[in-house]
Amino acid sequence: MKWMKFLLLLVPLLLAVAAVGADGSRPKVVLVIHGGAGAPPRGKMTPEREKQFRDDLDQALQAGYGALRRGTSVDAVEAAIRVLEDSPRFNAGKGAVFTHEGRNELDASIMEGKERRAGAVAGVTRVKNPIAAARAVMEDGKHVLLAGEGADRFALSKGVTEVNPVYFWTAERWQELQDALKEEEMPGKKGARRDERPRYDLGTVGAVALDRAGNLTAGTSTGGLTNKRFGRIGDSPIIGAGTYADNATCAVSCTGHGEVFIRYTVARDVTARMEYRARTVQEAATVEQAVRQVLDGLPKEEGGVGGIIALDSHGRFTWAYNTDGMYRGSVTEDGTKRVLIYDR
Ligand code: ASP
Repeated sequence: MKWMKFLLLLVPLLLAVAAVGADGSRPKVVLVIHGGAGAPPRGKMTPEREKQFRDDLDQALQAGYGALRRGTSVDAVEAAIRVLEDSPRFNAGKGAVFTHEGRNELDASIMEGKERRAGAVAGVTRVKNPIAAARAVMEDGKHVLLAGEGADRFALSKGVTEVNPVYFWTAERWQELQDALKEEEMPGKKGARRDERPRYDLGTVGAVALDRAGNLTAGTSTGGLTNKRFGRIGDSPIIGAGTYADNATCAVSCTGHGEVFIRYTVARDVTARMEYRARTVQEAATVEQAVRQVLDGLPKEEGGVGGIIALDSHGRFTWAYNTDGMYRGSVTEDGTKRVLIYDR
């Protein structure tokens, strides 16, 4: 029994020693999350609603931080995103937006920065937590992106929880679809550009985390855009567009108009700016500069609206958006949490 106690004391000590970096510094534990860049203007947000959003974000941070203390950044990203998927207030999991045909088709992805392994699912309709399905794809390792019925079947075969598709239904999202359908029928409105409409459906959720071993992970989960058709898939399950992670630079999760984020490979562009600059100028762009440059470079006139969160391998992080507000939060080493929706 004595040696058991000894082992129990020794293992955490060894792990702690192994995690000390080459310069003697110990990687910090950090988790940053977002719940989409679709917050309404401050004047339209009621105090009750704001409190509900803040409570959800706080709970997600709590779950992710707990996982980060016990496990890896992959565990933390999954745990935080699961909480937001289970809340009916975000456009992911329960509360996802509806397609033109009145269905919920969900997309998610996850990527870890050590080996750059990644997994993603698109258009799933029966898994309760699409982020768990994405993780199952990554851990299986054979493929990166699975779509539709096959993705559902794969995830369920790996033990991911199944739900009846009616589980995802919420009155608010159903109404959003009805409004979008009506708007489409209005004379002169047909073909209106997406950026002319309020973007409250930008409720995609995401997380980036750094663990004790110095490994980064990024993940993103969404229902896509209201009234999407023809099997449309956005940036969220596309590695390099909505999600990217590389221990050499940073982990990134995006929210916004998916078509533009795909065309501009937003998540990879953030990490590439840091990587290439470090190679050529011998001085890396900060994660903040990289995110700012990428967001400012999006064509707003073509609907390039949204937000980005990013966390580098030293635990420095940033968030930026070009909409009225972005639901977001962070928790750092000592458990200090921050939850924000607007600029201040
Ligand atoms: N990026 C998502 C998509 O286009 C939407 C969002 O961020 O809310 O599917």
